[in-house]
Amino acid sequence: MAVQVHYDQDCKMSITGVECNCGCEHRVIDKDIYIGRGLIERIPGYIQRRGLGTHCVLVADDNTYRVAGEQVEKTLKAAGFDVVPCVIHRENDMLPDDLSCGEVLLSITRETEFLIAVGSGTVTDTTRINAERTHLPFVSVGTAPSMDGYASAVAPLLHRGLKIQRPAVCPEIIVCDLDVLATAPMHMIASGVGDVLGKYIAKADWQLGQIINGEPCCPVCVEMVTNAVNALVDNVDEIAQKTEKGMRILIEALLLAGVTIMIIDNTRAVASIEHNIAQYWEMILVQRGIEPPMHGASVGVSTLLVWPLFERFAKEDLSKLDLDAIRAKRISREKRERWMLHAYGEEGGRQIMRENPGDFLTWEEQERRIRTAQERFEEIKAVIAAMPPLEKIKQVMMTLNAEMTPEEEEIPEDLLRCSMHCGKDYRTRYTLFKLMDECGLLEDYLADYPYPFE
Ligand SMILES: [Zn+2]
Ligand SMILES: [Zn+2]
Repeated sequence: MAVQVHYDQDCKMSITGVECNCGCEHRVIDKDIYIGRGLIERIPGYIQRRGLGTHCVLVADDNTYRVAGEQVEKTLKAAGFDVVPCVIHRENDMLPDDLSCGEVLLSITRETEFLIAVGSGTVTDTTRINAERTHLPFVSVGTAPSMDGYASAVAPLLHRGLKIQRPAVCPEIIVCDLDVLATAPMHMIASGVGDVLGKYIAKADWQLGQIINGEPCCPVCVEMVTNAVNALVDNVDEIAQKTEKGMRILIEALLLAGVTIMIIDNTRAVASIEHNIAQYWEMILVQRGIEPPMHGASVGVSTLLVWPLFERFAKEDLSKLDLDAIRAKRISREKRERWMLHAYGEEGGRQIMRENPGDFLTWEEQERRIRTAQERFEEIKAVIAAMPPLEKIKQVMMTLNAEMTPEEEEIPEDLLRCSMHCGKDYRTRYTLFKLMDECGLLEDYLADYPYPFE
């Protein structure tokens, strides 16, 4: 049965057609997601329906408070809720750092029964980590369709100036009012679109993992994300004009990405090499004290960067691979270790190697993967052929005036080069980049990005 998204008269989302026996363990979606117009008024009812209590801390920054937070506060108070506002004031953009997290923590009292975040990435993540640490449920009211993290259970934060990821919790209720979303500036909307476009890469990499390593790949999650991203590509003009339809398609795509994470408890359907590269830029830029581009904007640019390599790989003749030459060029475990420390730093590099012990392959395993790729190359080509033409993706981004190149995002040359080589090493998750490397092709493909290492 095909996956379908429905809404009831309360604008609550439900999804049918998710029955599946793919081998991934499936969990029930037990969160309430609302998408529609004029929803702010209905938030008290949504909270009562879920029985979260009446005492809350409302988290916002100056901007999101003005856009929606103030109205949410008034509506809740009028309905008899006890609201402690925690509006975070900053000269520049609010960051999800120690100070912001601390401000939220100190606004929470023994009476607090739940938290409500009114904002996009930063406000939501700052609230999310506090919800996890205090075991309080939280409600997310989205203000911009700028990233796919609303339904996430991981909080990317800044701790003592370093980028960290902490396990946190998913909101019990997510409310996305389409009128509020349409007030978001175009660069935030373009960022959301960039984040969604990366799903084509994530999907192809997941299917490659299934072909090469027999990794379970959930057709329901794939279909859910594919339908959503296709709808987005087909309706980019609606998005550019911020129509109700356009905003719904974009936020649905961003939220459905999160729903797949709820279902299979991992981010396989939504993030792969394009996210690794974007996160690497962010991590290093933060270390250098430079403000990184928006998450989705980076994902959009890295998606454009890696896409041509998929097309090129599909044209390879793998029967011509010289296995002896590939074996002779393998790097030693010691050299790989030095490379990881060079790329990710002493602490980060060691942590990644500890968490992904199988990533240094024996020759036997590498050979098995090469031979599997040779035998099943028609299937691999079909996966790549199912991706839309790159020109179409570029067109979508141009329509939204999105940033298209690393130069436009001011990614330094050395960082760009390093990221193209080390993005694949961030985790075990299988990607075309890993396969190209295993087939001895990656360095040749990345000749424009000379290896930043001895
Ligand atoms: Zn993302
Ligand atoms: Zn499945």
